[in-house]
Amino acid sequence: MRQQLNKAKRWVMKIGTSTLTTSGGHFAHENLEKIVSQVVFLVQHGVQVVVVSSGAIALGMDTLKRTRRPTTLPELQACAAIGQGKLMKAYESAFSRAGYHAAQILLTQDGLQDRKRYVNAKNTIEALLKMGAIPVVNENDTVATEEIKFGDNDVLAAQVANLVEASLLVFLSDIDGFYLRDKTLIHQIQSPAELKEYASHIHPKQSEKTVGGMKTKLEAAQTAMRSGIPIVLANGQDTHIAERILKGEEVGSLFHPATQKSSARQKWLAHSASSKGTITVDPGARRALTADKRSLLASGVLRCSGNFKLGDVVDVTDEAGGVFARGLVNYSREEVLKIQGQKASAIASILGYKRSDELVHRNNLVVLE
Ligand code: GLU
Repeated sequence: MRQQLNKAKRWVMKIGTSTLTTSGGHFAHENLEKIVSQVVFLVQHGVQVVVVSSGAIALGMDTLKRTRRPTTLPELQACAAIGQGKLMKAYESAFSRAGYHAAQILLTQDGLQDRKRYVNAKNTIEALLKMGAIPVVNENDTVATEEIKFGDNDVLAAQVANLVEASLLVFLSDIDGFYLRDKTLIHQIQSPAELKEYASHIHPKQSEKTVGGMKTKLEAAQTAMRSGIPIVLANGQDTHIAERILKGEEVGSLFHPATQKSSARQKWLAHSASSKGTITVDPGARRALTADKRSLLASGVLRCSGNFKLGDVVDVTDEAGGVFARGLVNYSREEVLKIQGQKASAIASILGYKRSDELVHRNNLVVLE
């Protein structure tokens, strides 16, 4: 498994507050620069990287010359609001020195549960990666407080890994990996069941500036494992950590995926997700989807029904009404009614905008036969 990590072409790299602060608790710009150098190394080696970074509260506290983490949520949110701009400024100047653009993405966990927002966030991040920019994600602390309260972005990072269909999720923290109470470092966790067994023997570690401990990391790891994404938990103070992970070295703790990423998604699409409508296609489009493994384009659509919206699951049927595929649709019913039968190149002039060429992208489609 370790050796296969050099084939992981899309990483979500979660940078914890502890990685960005000194032992005295102050924000350490030099640590951020080292992280950025590693991200640049990865990008130059053909890896797309989405950074999920904490540190806004720590930077806000530093700015206000506070040494103790505030105890009320509004004060924490205020610190984050002061620190977030500075955090992005630090990322932007470090990345731009290496010739890259950093892009701020503020997300909330409940926002990602909304299909429309999920698809919007996904499309934006895909577009940024295509442009060669580096998305830097944090929780939108003004409107959401889940991570401030519990997680230091651990759960958010797992959700982002799911969102962008990452091939690897890396948690960088100030510890070498997953330790048991007796200080044994666990190098490999093979399954969610094994993880559950270990969970009651975690080595506790508390820090003044963050709340996310090993518990939330393990919860997040479980989510990622179940989505088919491997996770490496490693020490962000090691200035070559990303390079070492990429080379397949035995660093940190590796959590094996419980299933294949594509099969987890395909299973969900085929069995769990409920369909909000139907798109009927001509024989050419049916062949393109089934035999040629292509995406669904508007040109092959004959009609549609149901009140589906952007990001909903739709059934795809042939003229006889047989459902042969399901997928996440990029356009609402109202939009499909206007563009059905039309070429992708005509979408922008008909709607006044074009979200994507595909009605349903191949990656979001499962053929049922
Ligand atoms: N969004 C928070 C930050 O950037 C998460 C970390 C925390 O809760 O300390 O600081």
